Amino acid sequence: MRFATKAIHVGQDPDPSTGSTIPPIHLTTTFTQESPGKHKGYEYSRSNNPTRKNLELCMAALEGGEAAAMFASGLAATNAVFASLLKPAEKLVAFSDLYGGTYRLLERVFRPWGLDVEYVDDNRPQAFAERIDGRAKMVWIETPTNPLLRLVDIAALAKLTRERGVLLAVDNTFATPALQTPIPLGADVVVHSTTKYLGGHSDVVGGAVVVRDGRIMEPIRFYQNAAGGVPSPFDCYLTHRGIKTLALRMKRHCENAKRVAEWAVEQKVFEKVTYPGLPTHPDQAIVGRQMCGAGGIVTCVLRGGLEGVRRFMESTRLFACAESLGGVESLVNHPAIMTHASMPRQVRERIGVVDGLIRLSVGLEDAEDLIDDLETAAKKAGL
Ligand SMILES: *Cc1c(COP(=O)(O)O)cnc(C)c1O
Repeated sequence: MRFATKAIHVGQDPDPSTGSTIPPIHLTTTFTQESPGKHKGYEYSRSNNPTRKNLELCMAALEGGEAAAMFASGLAATNAVFASLLKPAEKLVAFSDLYGGTYRLLERVFRPWGLDVEYVDDNRPQAFAERIDGRAKMVWIETPTNPLLRLVDIAALAKLTRERGVLLAVDNTFATPALQTPIPLGADVVVHSTTKYLGGHSDVVGGAVVVRDGRIMEPIRFYQNAAGGVPSPFDCYLTHRGIKTLALRMKRHCENAKRVAEWAVEQKVFEKVTYPGLPTHPDQAIVGRQMCGAGGIVTCVLRGGLEGVRRFMESTRLFACAESLGGVESLVNHPAIMTHASMPRQVRERIGVVDGLIRLSVGLEDAEDLIDDLETAAKKAGL
């Protein structure tokens, strides 16, 4: 089966007892056993639930992994990876251009717990390999990154991590498996905030971990049950429902984002426009090697400093000023004040999250309307 077919059919077998084409949502907390210990594979919904299991089967199939585990949020999924695959005194080598919440989790939870975290600013695979010593157990990257849209060559990095015997984990939230599958490229672990494109409708928070090798899932599965950060069956249903249109949505997100980016580079109000699909993007060659579309996020540096940004963001009508991304509706975010507020100013500015930077999550509206909205907002803001 190919991607769009898997997205619609894996984990969606009709219900055997009624023929219900769409499997029912199993809202039960517990499962009746025939006699103590004699059951159909389900005992208690924290441990396992049929609606969650269906989604896990689908996620594993879409990413080309052997197994998947769903969590209550993207950060719960990330936390489960760190907590179950790493130990105090071990080292994690991470790309410095990270989701702010991942940075906070590493700095405020895992560093005090004893994990040594080293950040790499340079996106060349060799730069990561140089930090791998005897204590390093995992390399953690996002590609494309949030919000600066830098790329890492996954296959080249995976070759180096494999040679050195460390795990490569990729946060694939921005690309989604519709555009990029890190596991077939050599990664060991993929993490998602399903809150974003996978759910796709800005109405359900969730996370996923997918692994290349089922053996890596054993400690993660244990942690999922032991720590209990699981999503509700209804959340799993909504996420699974969103996934059915993922291939279609990503195609349109890419088309709309490209239109917006190509328009923006022509406008004087933007000092800088970053989109992996533009020929000016420094990592454009990597897009061609590992992605089948440049994604739905465009970042721009606006002229006029913080005040200009504020007026611009108060003036958009279709682009809602909000955190998050990946929904059908367009959003505009100011990373320095919003999503990356947990990052100290000097760290932020070093990686390029400056005060004029805005992140556009280009939705599925008509591209002409989106461009009109940005144009009108720039005028109203006096930029
Ligand atoms: C949003 C996001 C997360 C965190 O996910 P939540 O579902 O909000 O916990 C992690 N990584 C990236 C790249 C994200 O955009």
